[in-house]
Amino acid sequence: MPNQTKIMDHSIRDILHMIREKQVSPNELLDEAYQNIHQVHEQLNAFITIQEKERAVREIQKHEQDHAVFFGLPYSLKDAYCTKDIRTTSASAVLQDFTPPYSATVYEKLQHTGAVLVGKNNQDAWGHGGSTENTDFGPTKNPWNLSCIPGGSSGGSAVAISTRMVLFSIGEDTGGSIRSPASMCNISGLKVTYGRVSRYGTIAYASSLDTVGPMAKSVDDLAFVLKEIAGNDPHDLTSSPLPVPDYPTLIQRDVKKMRIGLPKEFFGEGLTDEVRAVVDQAIKAFERLGVEFVNVSMPYVSLGVSIYYLIAPSETSSNLARYDGIRYGQDRSNFTEETIRRILLGTYALSAGYADELYKKAQKAREILIEEYREALSHCDALLAPVTPSKPSRIGELLSDPMRNLLEDLYTVTINLAGVPSLAIPAGFSSDKLPIGIQLIGKPFDELTLLQLGNAFQQATNWHTEKPPLLEQHP
Ligand code: GLN
Repeated sequence: MPNQTKIMDHSIRDILHMIREKQVSPNELLDEAYQNIHQVHEQLNAFITIQEKERAVREIQKHEQDHAVFFGLPYSLKDAYCTKDIRTTSASAVLQDFTPPYSATVYEKLQHTGAVLVGKNNQDAWGHGGSTENTDFGPTKNPWNLSCIPGGSSGGSAVAISTRMVLFSIGEDTGGSIRSPASMCNISGLKVTYGRVSRYGTIAYASSLDTVGPMAKSVDDLAFVLKEIAGNDPHDLTSSPLPVPDYPTLIQRDVKKMRIGLPKEFFGEGLTDEVRAVVDQAIKAFERLGVEFVNVSMPYVSLGVSIYYLIAPSETSSNLARYDGIRYGQDRSNFTEETIRRILLGTYALSAGYADELYKKAQKAREILIEEYREALSHCDALLAPVTPSKPSRIGELLSDPMRNLLEDLYTVTINLAGVPSLAIPAGFSSDKLPIGIQLIGKPFDELTLLQLGNAFQQATNWHTEKPPLLEQHP
């Protein structure tokens, strides 16, 4: 029977209930996750490392007595997170033999919840890219069409969720890396406010932009995961001491009379008709829920790609300097062309004689952008925008066109420059049935409003429940 409902199709809320009521056991859940991995992983290449099932079963046993909140939930991590005694590569040959001696805070927190790590996901190396093609472990394929990209850089995480290999995953977003793959694989993903989740133990791309966030099938699932991973961490001095709201209990809210801004710079030249149509349809769905829309303007958003591609490469050129071939095994000749391009650009933008004109100017423009977001969000509860200008491209297409590759990031990067949160959710399909998402952008540390809006949208629409055809071939 096609699209038969299995345990992994249910929400985290329901599965936790089913486990508590002993309607399903964590072992059954794990069996289903590994069965899906077995059936589809080879075609998709979503994982760099898959945890042995025996080890996962032992993890379940460890938590049998302690009533842990996520007892038995199978999850994965982008391979950008250090996991003690488990290989961590950032999808680069430079780290192919690296087994960290310590764990990222996000991993430690999740291990305490009783969730079970089933693997480490493929990604663009160091977070450099939006297609999961810039990886030394082979590209990840989109389960909706195997000749298309899954988005990136957290592409493996999105694919693993959409094909029910895991219930949730932790992605990393520096300029769109959670939202782009969420949008292209028909799942939900949250780029948090800078400082909401500890970055300790994350392999850094650009430290002033990097954020650690949840990816899952639905917004309700994201609320559960965010509650467990957010909060202050003495190991990351940029993590915020603000209290963490109880997102899962607060997520239900009538969104009537809430105001959403539509910044015109997100709807200009470059936006394809197919994506535009999906966004328009989403606006109508929100209007039916009683949400009011207002037009806003943020002129510096149009300069976003230029600002981002000076600041991010500058920071990455500094962060990657530590991979000198002495401490981590492999030497610098192992960097991919894309990464070398970014190191060169960053080194140039920071060098004496050019820094004033390039890096410092970009920093000033970033200040203006921050102010534009503050101003726009002072009139509304959230902003709504497309995630990428086009539907998922074919594998290889963006690699041969580096300029278009950069422009694909136009709608995501300014959000990281401003440090505000943004939620990507499924909103429709192209005529050839490729997923297209939208994003809701919020005020700093107001993830809750985004989750409430996204949840209301998902209660009124069915986009997020659609499964890739690949799964139908394996009923
Ligand atoms: N695609 C963007 C880049 O290549 C964003 C990547 C990210 O968020 N890690 O820089």
